[in-house]
Amino acid sequence: MKQKYCNCHNTLTVKQCIMALKDEVVEFIQEPSLDEFSDIIYCVNRFAGTITKQPYLKVLPGDKTHVDKIRKRMMMYGCIRSTKHLVKGRCPNGSLNPIQTVIGKQFKWN
Ligand SMILES: [Zn+2]
Repeated sequence: MKQKYCNCHNTLTVKQCIMALKDEVVEFIQEPSLDEFSDIIYCVNRFAGTITKQPYLKVLPGDKTHVDKIRKRMMMYGCIRSTKHLVKGRCPNGSLNPIQTVIGKQFKWN
């Protein structure tokens, strides 16, 4: 079954991959955790996707934590990214699955 994600999960450019990977490595250095490590693995798999012209290609194991996390985010507010990237509680790239009404209040967006 094909998992539905928001437009943030479209195939990234090489530049976007490098930026994302850099951000994740910085986050991992600042706060080392299995969760952040999983984010790095996920970025590498998205980079592999970019090279092969698709959103994601699993070349490294270990990003299950991140995949579970983005699935949960899709269910909660319709975007794979963390709440700090959202614009007015919504996916900055347009969501395929906008479900964010009631849950939005928990996050107190401006
Ligand atoms: Zn999104």
